[in-house]
Amino acid sequence: MPRDLPKAYDPAAIEDHWAEYWVREKLFAQPTPTADADGNGEPYTILLPPPNVTGNLHMGHMFEHTESDILMRWRRMSGDRVLWVPGTDHAGIATQMLVERQIVSEGATRQQLGREAFVERVWKWREHYGGVILDQMKRLGASVDWQREYFTMDEKLSVAVREAFVRLHEQGLIYRGAYIVNWCPRCQTAISDLEVFHEEQSGHLWEIRYPVVNKDGKDSGKFLSVATTRPETMLGDVAVAIHPEDERYLHLHGKKLRLPLMGREIPIILDEWVSRDFGTGAVKVTPAHDPNDFALAERHHLPSINVMDDTGHINAEGGAYTGLDRYVARKKIVADLEEQGLLAGIKDHVNNIGHCDRCKTVVEPRLSTQWFIKIQPLADKAKEAVRQGHIKFTPEMYEKTYFEWMENIHDWCISRQLWWGHRIPAWHCADCHKITVARVDPAACAHCGSKKITQETDVLDTWFSSGLLPVSVFGWPNITPETRADFDAFYPTSLLVTGFDILFFWVARMIMFGCWFAGDVPLPDGSPRSLADSVPFREVYIHALVRDANREKMSKTKGNVLDPIEIVKTYGTDAVRFTLASMASPGTDIAFNIARTEGYRAFANKIWNAARFLFMNIDRAAGIGIVVDPSALGKMPEAEQSAPLEARWIVAELNATAAKVNQSLENYRYDDAANTIYQFFWGSFCDWYLEIVKLRLDFSRTADKSQTKAALTTLVQVFEAALRLLSPFMPFLTEELWHAVYDGNPPAKSIALTRYPQTIQDSKVDYRIGDAHSKMEAIQRLVAEVRALRKDIGIDEKLVVPIVLDLTHFANLGEPSLLNGEGLTQQNFDTFDDSAGLRKIFESNQDIIRRLARVSDLTFSSTPLIGPNKRSSIDFDLMIVYELTIDVSAERERLTKEIAKYEKGLISAERQLGNDSFLAKAPANVVEGLKKQEANTRLLLEKAHISLDALPKD
Ligand SMILES: [Zn+2]
Ligand SMILES: [Zn+2]
Repeated sequence: MPRDLPKAYDPAAIEDHWAEYWVREKLFAQPTPTADADGNGEPYTILLPPPNVTGNLHMGHMFEHTESDILMRWRRMSGDRVLWVPGTDHAGIATQMLVERQIVSEGATRQQLGREAFVERVWKWREHYGGVILDQMKRLGASVDWQREYFTMDEKLSVAVREAFVRLHEQGLIYRGAYIVNWCPRCQTAISDLEVFHEEQSGHLWEIRYPVVNKDGKDSGKFLSVATTRPETMLGDVAVAIHPEDERYLHLHGKKLRLPLMGREIPIILDEWVSRDFGTGAVKVTPAHDPNDFALAERHHLPSINVMDDTGHINAEGGAYTGLDRYVARKKIVADLEEQGLLAGIKDHVNNIGHCDRCKTVVEPRLSTQWFIKIQPLADKAKEAVRQGHIKFTPEMYEKTYFEWMENIHDWCISRQLWWGHRIPAWHCADCHKITVARVDPAACAHCGSKKITQETDVLDTWFSSGLLPVSVFGWPNITPETRADFDAFYPTSLLVTGFDILFFWVARMIMFGCWFAGDVPLPDGSPRSLADSVPFREVYIHALVRDANREKMSKTKGNVLDPIEIVKTYGTDAVRFTLASMASPGTDIAFNIARTEGYRAFANKIWNAARFLFMNIDRAAGIGIVVDPSALGKMPEAEQSAPLEARWIVAELNATAAKVNQSLENYRYDDAANTIYQFFWGSFCDWYLEIVKLRLDFSRTADKSQTKAALTTLVQVFEAALRLLSPFMPFLTEELWHAVYDGNPPAKSIALTRYPQTIQDSKVDYRIGDAHSKMEAIQRLVAEVRALRKDIGIDEKLVVPIVLDLTHFANLGEPSLLNGEGLTQQNFDTFDDSAGLRKIFESNQDIIRRLARVSDLTFSSTPLIGPNKRSSIDFDLMIVYELTIDVSAERERLTKEIAKYEKGLISAERQLGNDSFLAKAPANVVEGLKKQEANTRLLLEKAHISLDALPKD
């Protein structure tokens, strides 16, 4: 029997089972639409930011996937045709490094293995170990379409990469050129600016004397000093530059210098770029090893001398230093200069040094021949798309960041000197030295017909292929009827959920490529695709960071990294998801606190126990022939005006909660949505409704069966609907309990395929909701007051006591503070604007008050109540009838304090209401609220005075 729930909630016992079930049953597959599938809801598509194939799931992923999964489950249940496409990235550098390390540990090198064997080895690695992170996602229940899983090196996606490269080349937007790149001597490849992280390090500034040479070629005995932080680069100096207005050196212009250690003569040139304040004001020019010097050399038509090889050793251009590692060479050069009396000084200097993001090696700016994309035309289109509002950023501030970056964009260096990746489809000719770029591997040079051609050894930057994903996963450039149907339905995708760290790496590049290539595919009606429909996604949601409980960034060096898989093992996926959701709102980092996860596990446990209570009552009801009709479930419950108050009230609460949750999710306010459901389930449903409904569930033979059946039906209806409401947040728990509610015969394969609760928009329903809400609120306040007073005066919890109420000093509370849900009109509430109305509510719901506040008898009095066992509130005075020895002085003290508090409140309210500029600016409802509050405080003050006066005098 599915309803035989184990006593204790144990996530481990249910989660694996359902995770496996969802994948096996292909529940979240979204097939290519066919003509007759039209009308199955609006497509809603997102791509999973593909994790590296080498990756393991960390807290950031879990957060990103939780946010995405909540949205996707909610959208799916709200009737959208949801498609969430998963996949992994081949991650050029990261994967190559990993496999290389493996090979080295076996005592070999990648070079010994050779390119072909190495690539084969990487594929093998990928087969065995790749995609760990996707398995972790499966276990955590991400509702992606596993049928569409891709890998960026798949045949289909590789075709897209090749087409994009060839197309851009044909359009004259790809060129090959010598340029200063960030070179990692460890990875032996160029890396992009974005893959370099800078760190301040204390180093030195060396001042070196360059001898001035006379016209006759002899040293003049004079020197010009230059300053450098990298003395080893002097081996490649081609000039020294000074500022054209620098009086100190102008007389030297036109003369030559002898480059120390190398002996060659180099010119002194004038350039305004030189900063007169830095170092000595004279700058050595090393075009092959510094981007500024490179630009300077171009201006002055100077040659470039590259003095380093791929591994960061001095090459054959380095004279006596050839073969030395760059830092060994640095030491030797400084020592040699000192020995020759050419070292003018050494100063301490803090350098901002670039490191390889992957391997942490210090990056060497170095001249090399690379492939580039002329990015401006693509960037212009991509900027236009955002400027015209075709892509919306949340939080909005990232739009500004996007534009800032796009305004300062440089040509994109797309070649990497790796073996793992998409090899550039270009062939070099040994005869005419021209390049052939082709869609199909050529047999001969396209220019001279020579057969002596060899393919470029470089591969493409990983972001080149991932930038194409939104078009390539739907089949571009091979537009067949099937891919066309996918493209028509799912492109542009609806949303991208990702982190700000890849805003430029990935998000901007997808926008550029999408806007550039998607135009190939016409719209479903055959008309050309505009820029608005070429964008890869309509919205970008940038999520925040998960930090540790002390708001510190998680890092391995700090040792504060939390492994989500470990936490899930202890608390269950649902509790971890709920923790993340309850703290997530746009632009706010999360301080992950395990105490909250414990709390949400308790929440899951509370729901589990509620289900057990429910099933126990279903069984007992069956014993007297009462069965809840399953067809009553699966929709938004309603309650007639004749139904008991708690039934009307819980339906009202459910309606208001659904409205608030739907609205919050629409605005990416996961926190508001989660907290609203939490309050409903724990507070309204478990703490209040379940306690009250026990009054109606009478299974004795003499009971009124129709009353019990009605109460039980509402109970099951509301619980089932609440499970659906919670399902996107806690998919496992709700799946388990939902199947149990239907006793193993559910109307769908999964709760995830049912409808999400929507508020009923109907004025009659609104009326009932408002009416029940205000009445129940009055009862809740009374119960809370009785409970508080019992505690204050120390009445035993089990003791049942009589209470007396005095409603003479009554103030109308006004409109009840119903949850502000969309679609709820707060009109025509049957509020009680006099004490008789309130008395009627208390009288007709005595059973509820008795049960919840442990009250034996409830009477009304119009003579003022006095004594320490009395409390005043705005619309009623309450006294517990209980023998008490009055501690007059303590009671006087309490009341005096209360009076002081009210007086203070009054003064502040009066000050605000007397402030004209405040009144002019404040919204009308705020002013109204303040006036109401002032009146209430005045009443409470009056009541406190009466109580104080009534105390026996000493
Ligand atoms: Zn590196
Ligand atoms: Zn040729």
